[in-house]
Amino acid sequence: MAIPNPNPALHFRLTAMPSPISRTVAVVGAGAAGLCAALELRREGHKVVVYERETQIGGTWAYTPEIETDPVGLDPTRNIVQSSLYASLRTNLPREVMGFRVYPFVASRKPGRDGRRFPGHGEVLEYLRDFAEEFRLGELVRFGTEVWHVGLVEDRKWMVRSRKRSGGSEGNKDDEVYDAVVVCNGHYTEPRIAEIPGIEVWPGKQIHSHNYRVPDPFRDQIVVVIGSAASADDISRDISKVAKEVHITSRSVEIGRLGKLSGHDNIWLHSMIDGVHKDGKVAFQDGTQVRADVILHCTGYKYHFPFLETNGIVSVDDNRVGPLYKHIFSPALAPCLSFIGLPWKVVPFPLFEFQSKWIAGVLSGRIPLPSKEEMMMDTEAFYSSLEASGIPKRYTHKLDAYQFEYDNWLATKSGSPLTEEWRKKMYFAAGRRKRSMPEAYRDQWDDEDLISQAHEDFKQHST
Ligand code: FAD
Repeated sequence: MAIPNPNPALHFRLTAMPSPISRTVAVVGAGAAGLCAALELRREGHKVVVYERETQIGGTWAYTPEIETDPVGLDPTRNIVQSSLYASLRTNLPREVMGFRVYPFVASRKPGRDGRRFPGHGEVLEYLRDFAEEFRLGELVRFGTEVWHVGLVEDRKWMVRSRKRSGGSEGNKDDEVYDAVVVCNGHYTEPRIAEIPGIEVWPGKQIHSHNYRVPDPFRDQIVVVIGSAASADDISRDISKVAKEVHITSRSVEIGRLGKLSGHDNIWLHSMIDGVHKDGKVAFQDGTQVRADVILHCTGYKYHFPFLETNGIVSVDDNRVGPLYKHIFSPALAPCLSFIGLPWKVVPFPLFEFQSKWIAGVLSGRIPLPSKEEMMMDTEAFYSSLEASGIPKRYTHKLDAYQFEYDNWLATKSGSPLTEEWRKKMYFAAGRRKRSMPEAYRDQWDDEDLISQAHEDFKQHST
């Protein structure tokens, strides 16, 4: 998807460079994005505090068997579990592509580590811990501290209100004023579920993939899985080992592929659900139907910033967080409010680096931003271009093939090297293998030449 750049001239307005400013910056979240932000902000000379409600770093990579009290995530009073990982999860990107540029994700020599090219989730958490240790990021983090309110105060500063979380109780409230806030709270925690005609009378169970951990509860059951993204693929196969039948339903199944999934005895592909009935039947638009025990929604997530009060300047509308210039700055509140990690269908860690460097440089005044009006015009032109191409609002932050153009735009602004050619080629090669051999792509490949190029490149980080 090529998104037209509405007016490149706006981005290259030259202004006199003021001397670097050191600001006080609050970062919300110590997942991969927050850690990366902390590193780049500190490098730029800012004073950084990272607020993390959990007692460890890693965000979604900190797997937990715990699930939420509402399995579909609709109850606003439910307990919130940050991680959406299932026990069997292995990365869907090769480690060379996935890692930070400043700290490549190479196999560790430490005992007990997972050296596979597409490692299990535990290895990613260990890698993030190594990264945090290497750059002494832990000392910037206030663990067990939840931000419950972020709001504007005078002089365009931000009040960050936090509370200590200990043993399930909340206490020790704290208010602090910062020059800037960088929001890194992740976007895989607030489930989005499919609307299904008749669901109010359907007698079966429903669960969102956010609360899927292991296949055992689905033993001998007939399960309908809604979705076509990586989680739906992985979870269907995981469950099929114990379930009686697994029926995958999605918008994107081609007519010719409907029916039994090749290589599997108990997985079927269907078109969308037409409706469900009180006798337990699930009817699909292709005319088939099954009597199912469970519907598992692998239908994605909503952006959610329950702590952020901007008086309506930034809002979430049909999963568009906006208006935001380049998915990062609110034109009206720039540079003192920014978001890292909103784009999806991307290589997240390097993207966090590009975004963090730009934000850090803009906050210090080293990198100029266009005027508020110019940023707004650019953002509106971007939204219009999506609309003109028939792209729904909820796909505003889906970058996909356009991601490297986006990364390189940020790199140019920050004076960083562009995305490596091997990384792009490896990303697309992995995607092609995933489509052509979904069962085996994590263990079979033919891009050894790209792996060599990556490791040549990584040498500069160890010298
Ligand atoms: P998170 O990891 O969610 O971290 C956000 C942090 O903010 C958390 O630690 C949370 O506790 C904290 N927080 C939230 N609210 C508050 C608050 N109010 N106060 C204080 N702290 C708060 N990426 C890949 O690169 N490769 C993969 O193979 C891959 N597979 C994935 C599989 C699944 C099932 C999912 C869900 C995601 C996958 N991802 C993958 C994407 C993954 O989300 C990113 O890699 C990355 O971990 C996102 O980091 P983050 O920091 O933006 O968010």
